[in-house]
Amino acid sequence: MTSPATPLTLTLGHLYPDQLNLYGDRGNIVTLRRRCQQRGIKLRVVGLGIGDALAPDEYDMLFIGGGQDREQAPVSQDLYEIKGIGLWASIEDDMPVLAVCGGYQLLANYYRPANGPDMRGLGVFDAWTISKGPQQPRCIGDIAISWHGMTLVGFENHGGRTYLGTAKPLGKVLKGYGNNAEDSNEGAIYRNTYGTYLHGSLLPKNPHFADHLIELALQRKYGAGESLLTAQEEPPVLNGKTHIGITDAADLHVATAAPEVSTRLTPLDDSLEWEAHASQLERLGLHTEAVAALRIQKKG
Ligand code: GLN
Repeated sequence: MTSPATPLTLTLGHLYPDQLNLYGDRGNIVTLRRRCQQRGIKLRVVGLGIGDALAPDEYDMLFIGGGQDREQAPVSQDLYEIKGIGLWASIEDDMPVLAVCGGYQLLANYYRPANGPDMRGLGVFDAWTISKGPQQPRCIGDIAISWHGMTLVGFENHGGRTYLGTAKPLGKVLKGYGNNAEDSNEGAIYRNTYGTYLHGSLLPKNPHFADHLIELALQRKYGAGESLLTAQEEPPVLNGKTHIGITDAADLHVATAAPEVSTRLTPLDDSLEWEAHASQLERLGLHTEAVAALRIQKKG
């Protein structure tokens, strides 16, 4: 139970910020920090570069971005030799992890680049990635996928084609390429670890997904069953209530949550975010989905 004066705090480990930082992926960190700040939650961000150890107890959530093949090679080695054990322990302990593109590929079994040897992955996702080089055009462009009856929008730019073994997809492609432009799968999920090709960056235009990650981290750290609403001066940041929101309770691998209860964050004014989300859906010709997105904005 947090004491009345203690603000909620979260620590985010940003893996390989200097190597895996393509297409504005850092915007995901900015969004998480802003959405926490607006609720009085303190988000501390710690960069973890090549050679840095990953001590699971020091973090509440992790982010790994995308990169070019030449940056992925040393990261693959570091993951295997240095961070792998700590990362696996965090993932098996239901820490929320977001892995984008190159980072996503290296959490699967292996990445076979167009040139050079296969890069070992951690095998978190039972999946593999093969880049066919210049024979096959890169998957580049705006993308929209389904997620829990709603949509996620972003931008993709990858040569690798990812094929899922037993890993579940994050969602189904509505417009764009997704994992491999063949089976309409996009991304992968394992426990609270999410892999996706959606750059953009992803979270600014998908506030519901950003909040989902924050909720998972808070519930894992503070417990969903416990009331966090001690008599705090500042407005409450969490409303404990029974709800099956954007994430079915069954999907919430939250160690302490009672199966039927999850906690909700105080809603923010996401008008701008949902307008941006809806306009990308419109541009992709997904008019029904755009109207649905604007309806979420109206509900607030
Ligand atoms: N280098 C990998 C590929 O081309 C990942 C690219 C990325 O992270 N955007 O598939």
